[in-house]
Amino acid sequence: MNILIVHAHPEPQSFTSALKDAAVADLSAAGHSVVVSDLYAMGFNPVASAADFGSRGDADYLNYALEQRHNVKAASLAPDIAAELEKIQAADLVLLSFPLYWFSVPAILKGWIDRVFVSGIVYGGRRIYDGGGLKGKRAMAIVTTGGRDHMLSPGGIHGDLTETLKPLLQGSLGYAGMTVLPPFYGYHVPYIGAEAREAVLANFRAQLAAIDSREPLVMPSLADFDAEMKPL
Ligand code: FAD
Repeated sequence: MNILIVHAHPEPQSFTSALKDAAVADLSAAGHSVVVSDLYAMGFNPVASAADFGSRGDADYLNYALEQRHNVKAASLAPDIAAELEKIQAADLVLLSFPLYWFSVPAILKGWIDRVFVSGIVYGGRRIYDGGGLKGKRAMAIVTTGGRDHMLSPGGIHGDLTETLKPLLQGSLGYAGMTVLPPFYGYHVPYIGAEAREAVLANFRAQLAAIDSREPLVMPSLADFDAEMKPL
């Protein structure tokens, strides 16, 4: 299997990076081909702008999604976007590795999605969910948190983290057509002590080894909606 790991942590010695390193080691040892986009190490530019386009459909007014479509056709997307798109298109499984920032992904990872999930390839019109451009690929988020398990659970003070991450899990990965697996959560990791962190790491490795038995999250199906996306 071809696996792309998109990693968004600025510190290579962090616990989040240790989870990523364990994934690289275990998946490579299992015979998979693993590619890592280490966004901070790459100095990935997360800012969507006119500089992303080598040519313009409309030189006078920047409509970002329309220019994505134009530049897909003209094969003139910025080289860093084209390179990341190529990695995703080659991947059977995409792992997103990041610390929870403000109930969400770090800005550098949000910018990776904004720029790399291009209209005209990844999504657009009815090219969403089970018609999405990344259909057939699986995705899983590997998330560390400062908050405790019970704080980020249903009924907890912050609510269910999987619901909180809907903009990522459904709004981006599922929307693009990917089969989205339940995330792995490493809770409260700066505060739990070295031994407890070792246990989190061991649990992560076990869950990764059993990834094929992970039941995907339920996503909408186009078959349940009419031409105007009203429920049938
Ligand atoms: P680190 O602090 O890098 O690591 C924790 C410890 O693990 C360190 O002592 C490190 O040395 C040690 N370690 C490294 N490798 C290993 C190993 N192999 N085995 C054992 N120990 C190891 N949290 C929330 O819950 N909700 C939020 O909304 C939220 N928003 C945030 C917003 C911002 C801007 C920031 C900066 C933080 C936020 N946090 C939030 C907290 C954040 O999610 C956590 O601090 C982060 O997930 C901790 O992971 P880390 O990899 O950075 O840990």
